[in-house]
Formats: sequence, structure tokens, C-alpha cells
Amino acid sequence: MTLKILKYPDPILKKKCTEVKEITPEIKKIIQDMIETLKGGEGIGLAASQVGRSERIVVVLTSTGPKALINPKIIKKTKETDVLEEGCLSFPGLFLKIKRPKGVEVEALDEEGKIFKIKTEEIPAFVFQHEIDHLDGILFIDRLPFWQRFKIKKKLKNF
Ligand code: ZN
Repeated sequence: MTLKILKYPDPILKKKCTEVKEITPEIKKIIQDMIETLKGGEGIGLAASQVGRSERIVVVLTSTGPKALINPKIIKKTKETDVLEEGCLSFPGLFLKIKRPKGVEVEALDEEGKIFKIKTEEIPAFVFQHEIDHLDGILFIDRLPFWQRFKIKKKLKNF
């Protein structure tokens, strides 16, 4: 089932998601629906809060196919940063250059409840950071320097 993606400024996007305690059939179904929604759209990552859910789940498209991350955590990040252009399914048509650590190592549970780690750099590392931020109610516009964020928010109001 394809899910409706919430758009800024929906207040749900600012909510912090809570840890998944148990991977129930319902959780598996949400993951399936999130993957279907992601595949049907233009994005490469989707967080549960973007479809109105409050669980810490993200799905990303990787070179080996779609992957679900349950309770993902960034356990390491590089000191070195980079600036890459990001988009967000909750901000259609908006692309912003965002500065983030260049590489991260992420730990998460898979759908079977097994812990796994992924070490990435550049675009995939930015995707993971962007999606995990969503779980904490942090949007990519929040990562902009203050003056730039102010201008963008003003522009978004006039949409
Ligand atoms: Zn996003």
C-alpha cells in the first residue's frame, strides 16, 4: 500500500519518534508500505514520521535494493565535512546545499531484529543522516545557517 507523504509544515514532521521495542507483523507491514511508497516516488530515503508514524524506522534505496533500518543510530562520524545538495519528499521541488560530516557509521536492526552496521561516505552517508534527523524531528532546513534558514522559511510561507 502506498502511503501519503506529509508535507512541510505538517507538525508531525517536527515530532521525535520512539524506539521500536518489538518487530511485530504491524511493524513489518509499515516497512513494506514505506518501501513501496519510496519506490513509487522520486526520493532515495523515507522516514516513518514522513508518513505520519512515530516509530524509529527509515527505509533507503541502496545499490543492492531497498533497505529498512529499525532504531538506526549514528555511532561514528568523520570530522571532515562536505556540502552536498539534498532534496526531501516533504519539500517537493526544494533542493538545498547542506553541510554534514562526510562519512558515518550507522547501527540499526533489520526486519529480523538483528543488529547490523553500515559504513558510508558521501551521498549514502548524507541520506542516512537526513533520514535519522527526521526521526528526531529535525528537517534539512534546520541544518542551514541561521540567515539562510530564515530566508527559506519566509519563502516557504509564500508557497
Ligand atoms: Zn526528508
